[in-house]
Amino acid sequence: MSRTKADSAQKTKLDANDLPKLFQLLHSQGFTVIGPTVRDGAIVYDEIDSPADLPRGWTDEQEKGRYRLKKHDNGAYFGYAVGPHSWKQYLYPPRVQLWRMHKNGGGFELSSPDGQLKKYAFLGVRSCELHAIDILDRVLLQNGFEDPTYKIRRSESLIIVVQCTAPAATCFCSSMQTGPKAEKGFDLAMTEVIDGDSHYFVLQEGSRTGRAILQELACPEATETEIAAAEQAVAAAVECMGRTLNTHGLKEALYANREHPYWQEVGARCLNCTNCTQVCPTCFCTTVEDVTDLAGTTAERWRRWDSCFTMDFSYIHGGSVRSSAGARYRQWLTHKLASWVDQFGTFGCVGCGRCITWCPVGIDITEEARVLAADTVKQ
Ligand code: SF4
Ligand code: SF4
Repeated sequence: MSRTKADSAQKTKLDANDLPKLFQLLHSQGFTVIGPTVRDGAIVYDEIDSPADLPRGWTDEQEKGRYRLKKHDNGAYFGYAVGPHSWKQYLYPPRVQLWRMHKNGGGFELSSPDGQLKKYAFLGVRSCELHAIDILDRVLLQNGFEDPTYKIRRSESLIIVVQCTAPAATCFCSSMQTGPKAEKGFDLAMTEVIDGDSHYFVLQEGSRTGRAILQELACPEATETEIAAAEQAVAAAVECMGRTLNTHGLKEALYANREHPYWQEVGARCLNCTNCTQVCPTCFCTTVEDVTDLAGTTAERWRRWDSCFTMDFSYIHGGSVRSSAGARYRQWLTHKLASWVDQFGTFGCVGCGRCITWCPVGIDITEEARVLAADTVKQ
């Protein structure tokens, strides 16, 4: 979607009771709405039909290796931080069929991947997640290579930000300059405000499509007081950020410390479960698998997410290049916070905290990087 200058745009007010109108409008324009919903004790992203599917009244408590949902009584629809899912699973799905070959007489018939692509409206995108999508754009669209499956999904997607007002104890987006306020790169931004009996969203356009949606909704202009309340709710989120990471000189320190014994200490704790890479909104490594049916008439090639934490990932003839868990952790963290900058001009981490929460042994990127940056080993 073509984006406009968000800050100069007029802001309007949508009463929380009128939230169904937004869903109706998106459905009438052919969008499948993907948004947050409660499932299996977590807030996940899935197809949702109405505000009744949103995690209203739920918040998340997060810490190293711990995630719990908790009821809160303010009735917020978006009163949580982020869950284990990210938008990556829709833009860059965990499994994609690349091609299918069918035996036909003496030859073969090649067919395109199965499945009809849906036009998605992503509702509830956080600022850190918006930056993660921007990072995926750099990797998958702007690096001298275009990933066709990502490109088509990305170009068809509508992005509706909901500004974060409830960061978790594991969040550090303000350290990474990726939040909590989304400034650009969206179609529509919403800030949820609850003030006594008053419950509303301040809406802001970010693209021509977003402007058209606002025109259709025909909401009243937000007052200065309502806009100030929305700004205050987002500004207060900075103070609730549970973690920090000093990025000054971090890249150089990590490169200088490539032989530090601490990598092996972290490696001794790491289970190589790959959770951190699966939940990370910017990790993009994949592998390909070829499968055939039992009759030997059809062959398919699939791409699926992979992880630099597996032995197979760096296996070349004779063995794995990164044979220890410490070497694999060093590869991951150094890529995120150092070599990614050289490759793509940005850190590969947006400070969402997912890898901290979902690591079963509580390995914490902010703590590990701090130890390594504080203590430079002489080479
Ligand atoms: S490395 Fe961790 S904190 Fe950073 S973006 Fe990935 S999951 Fe989030
Ligand atoms: S760092 Fe944690 S989440 Fe990542 S592979 Fe190791 S044990 Fe699993």
